[in-house]
Amino acid sequence: MDAASLLRWTAADLRQAAHAAHISRHDGPDAAASTACLSCHALVCPGWESLPVYFDQTRLERVATLRAPDDESPTVEEFHPDGTHSWSADAPIAPDWFPYNRCDVWRCLTCRCLFLRYTEYGGYYVDERVREVRAELIPQ
Ligand SMILES: [Zn+2]
Repeated sequence: MDAASLLRWTAADLRQAAHAAHISRHDGPDAAASTACLSCHALVCPGWESLPVYFDQTRLERVATLRAPDDESPTVEEFHPDGTHSWSADAPIAPDWFPYNRCDVWRCLTCRCLFLRYTEYGGYYVDERVREVRAELIPQ
């Protein structure tokens, strides 16, 4: 899908979608089979991780973005009201703050689990990062 035509999700959209995905995985007809999804289990991580190089990216589809369409330079400030840091497993998923403000939302084609992805540009490296979306970490 063309990045320009991606739907922009708010925190509320993301929370609702994550909640729905969680219910379908844990209470749906294939709940037992889906606790460890073979397609995306390599990505299931509570905090940010680098996208494994061996991961087959065709197992995910991009469904939305958290990026503001007109914002050329979104903030690099982070949101950690409870003393977490960017790699914390319980760091808030706050779409208006770094790095969530440059993420796209991806969905596993098999279990519909949601992930956020963005590209970190360091001085000498480019790192694709991924984090599982958990509804309870999205601030109200
Ligand atoms: Zn999956």
